[in-house]
Order: sequence, then structure tokens, then C-alpha cells
Amino acid sequence: MSRSIIQDGKYCYLGSSETTLDKHHIFNGALRKKSEKYGLWVYIGHYSHLYAHQRDTDVLIELKKIGQKAFEEKYGHEMFMREFHKNYLDDEDKEAFFDIGKDVFLS
Ligand SMILES: [Zn+2]
Repeated sequence: MSRSIIQDGKYCYLGSSETTLDKHHIFNGALRKKSEKYGLWVYIGHYSHLYAHQRDTDVLIELKKIGQKAFEEKYGHEMFMREFHKNYLDDEDKEAFFDIGKDVFLS
């Protein structure tokens, strides 16, 4: 298993206090393997994770932005585009919020 490049330690990235943690791959579907390879995943409490997938698209998009930012700090933008094909960051996000953490998600 790769190390997450987004999160250090095992806790719910969205700030829940759930003890059952799922591993959420930031880019899923066809890109899941690449997410794993590059450490683009975070732990999320099981129910928060289900909720995010079922109802809360915004959280998933925020996580993609955070993932892209983390990747680009390591490998650069061109490689991100080569591997993941889509830019999730717009100008507003350039100041980005790398370890944005729970405050933003839960407010
Ligand atoms: Zn997930």
C-alpha cells in the first residue's frame, strides 16, 4: 500500500470521530490505480465516506483539488495532466488550501 501524500497518520480526514475508517481514493474509476500508486488517498470515517459518495459531491470535488495540489507540489502540473487528464484547480484555487482539514468541510 502506498503512503498517502495528503495525510499523515490514520484519522478521518473530514474530521469525524468515527473509528471505522475507509480508504478513499481521490480519483476513482479508471484512475483508482493511479490514485493508489501516487498516494492520492485519504482515510475517511465509514459513514462519512458513504455519505460523501451518495450525497456530497462538493466534498469529493474539494478532495480532488487537494489531491491535484499535493500531486503538483511533488511532480508538477504537466505530469498531473498526463496522468489524470483533467484540471480541477481554477485561478481561485491557486492560493490553495493544502491541508484544508476538517474546519472547512464541517462548517
Ligand atoms: Zn471513496
